[in-house]
Amino acid sequence: ERITTDMATLTQEIDKYARDKKIEIETLKVREEYRKEFLGNVSHELKTPLFTVQGYLETLIDGAANDKKIRDKYLDRANKGVERLIYIVKDLDMITSLEVGNLSMELEHFDIVALIESVFDLFEMKAHKKRISLTFDIDYTAPILVKADKEKIQQVLTNLIVNSIKYGREKGTTEVSIENLIKNKVIVRITDNGEGIEKRNIPRLFERFYRVDKSGSRKEGGSGLGLAIVKHIIEAHDEKIYIESEFGVGSEFSFTLEKAK
Ligand code: ADP
Repeated sequence: ERITTDMATLTQEIDKYARDKKIEIETLKVREEYRKEFLGNVSHELKTPLFTVQGYLETLIDGAANDKKIRDKYLDRANKGVERLIYIVKDLDMITSLEVGNLSMELEHFDIVALIESVFDLFEMKAHKKRISLTFDIDYTAPILVKADKEKIQQVLTNLIVNSIKYGREKGTTEVSIENLIKNKVIVRITDNGEGIEKRNIPRLFERFYRVDKSGSRKEGGSGLGLAIVKHIIEAHDEKIYIESEFGVGSEFSFTLEKAK
């Protein structure tokens, strides 16, 4: 059997092939840009704490170690720098796994009230240092069972609560509340009366490495990955995350969870 293809069809097919190739190349270019930007950001984030550690160690080697008081202080600071590096690398691991999609979800039933209390306990000292009061607006006696990946939700709560303290004002408040929604969902809200976020910056907030005030935020530590991680985790649960913020007044981050039946 002879197959004859007319010129018009052939030209169309060639055009389509060329178009597809062009799209493929464009996609690769975008990915390459993305990769370069990511690597650039990573090395930038790692440099600051690395140079800090190097600085203290060099000063110690140059003789500062002879004075016990100075030695202890510098060792402590170098150690803090290493802790910060570990923290950044952990966040990088997490975001990479989340973006590649190879992080398995382990759904279980647990009491979200108890989980919030345990996160509060962990950060009570941090809040106390800024005289921020952590309050939980909930009827303590009633557990609320949800179905989610407990460890990952703990990470979400940690990132949001730590942010509310970091960007909160001295003597401010961080309040967590849970509300029952219709259709077997609950919504968890983390509200602060801190510095707030300007409207124009809100759309970019969940991007990895994005920070509103580069110098200010960096001084506060962190990796710039906290909210990107939060967003990925909530979306991996097929849930929603919301933000409401007013510059100079405060912010509210909230997310939904499924109630255990
Ligand atoms: P970082 O490590 O810088 O805290 P995040 O991804 O957790 O990174 O947050 C991104 C940026 O969003 C922060 O640098 C800060 O500018 C802003 N931000 C996050 N949470 C709050 C908040 N509760 N109040 C005000 N600004 C916030």
